[in-house]
Amino acid sequence: MKKLHLLFVLLLAMSVSAMATQKRKVLFIGIDGTRSDALQSANTPNIDALIAHGAYSYDAWCLGITVSGPSWSSMFTGVWYPKHGVTDNSYSGSQFDKYHEYPALAKQYKPGLYAAEVMEWPPLIDNIANIYDGYNVRIHVPDGGTTTTGTAALTYLADTNVDIMTIYYDKVDLTGHSSGFSPLNPAYISAIESVDANIGTVIAALHARPTYAYEDWLILLMTDHGGILTGHGANTDQERHIWFIADGTYIAHKQLNLAGTDPGSYRITPPGVDTTILKSVPVQTDIAVTALHFLLYDIPGIYPSIITTDSLDGKSWLDSIYFPPTIMPTAVQPLAGTNLAVKMYPNPTTNLVTLWFEHSNTNISYSVINAMGALVKQENNFQMSGLKLNIDLGSLSDGTYIIHVEADNKTVDKKVVIKH
Ligand SMILES: [Zn+2]
Repeated sequence: MKKLHLLFVLLLAMSVSAMATQKRKVLFIGIDGTRSDALQSANTPNIDALIAHGAYSYDAWCLGITVSGPSWSSMFTGVWYPKHGVTDNSYSGSQFDKYHEYPALAKQYKPGLYAAEVMEWPPLIDNIANIYDGYNVRIHVPDGGTTTTGTAALTYLADTNVDIMTIYYDKVDLTGHSSGFSPLNPAYISAIESVDANIGTVIAALHARPTYAYEDWLILLMTDHGGILTGHGANTDQERHIWFIADGTYIAHKQLNLAGTDPGSYRITPPGVDTTILKSVPVQTDIAVTALHFLLYDIPGIYPSIITTDSLDGKSWLDSIYFPPTIMPTAVQPLAGTNLAVKMYPNPTTNLVTLWFEHSNTNISYSVINAMGALVKQENNFQMSGLKLNIDLGSLSDGTYIIHVEADNKTVDKKVVIKH
């Protein structure tokens, strides 16, 4: 019994240690020109799955100019147009030498981070003075060519070195300009749905990364503005009313603000911006600041001091939506070079997962650890026939778990998401 107990403690420590060493990474997906009401009307199972698991608001607001250049610049830099200087799509007057994009800001503190971007709309790369601005790779794909964008993104996501990934889709905005920004326009809705389908392939590729169990991802999604008739650029609700989604390994499911809390805009005078309401509403500059807070989380005091240091305007949502495991011993490291070759599917799952072993193993133990580091299910000395082992997780509540598997002195940790 004592030996078994020690084994259990070791298994638990190793599993929790795998979580403790998970590397934080950010995926930011931008969808141009997508009205909040249209996103809610469209059939978007992949975005809905992120919302069902993560934090969201259908009542976020564009506080600046409802044009792509200024709005994306606010998301990428964490400051509004009076600082980044971009007031139209020509980028004349831009101050990217003073206010950098979030990968460049992150690299001030962690130079080793690797950042990639797949961009459809050329000005968002070409009109920036230092066209890399923190990115290691930054490529154009055809404007509105949703599938090509996904294919390029999958190539970068297959690289285990990637720490920061930005993906931009333009099809929804292009469709709005040609036939109308409206939830009643079938073409506009269809464009949103096709982008959602592509996002599904990107999220699947993220989960399929060979290193996924050792990574802690923050996934952010936002748009730059809505639209009215076939355009945008003014201050109507249809142009300013946007949305915000944050999901990831340890992001809690919650709605971030209720309807009707428009903080105003720098483009509306009077009344201008209500700074009290602003604190409770997701806005565009929050993207860069939340991403930076997440990536630099292990630097003591980085948030909110980074706001002052880098003169940022946004705020971080992390403290209210991110709940990593509280038990994080670091003394025990996973055994090197003893990885068990196992595939696991489906993931996420509703109840059953199947572990598919590359070689037959006669004596298998597994333990399931929840996000708080507690053991919730265990089976020892399991005798399997064939290469597959089914584990029923149906009794566990929704969340992220680690399945620690040991067989023939080899181990592997698999991260699984349960969604009933
Ligand atoms: Zn547009």
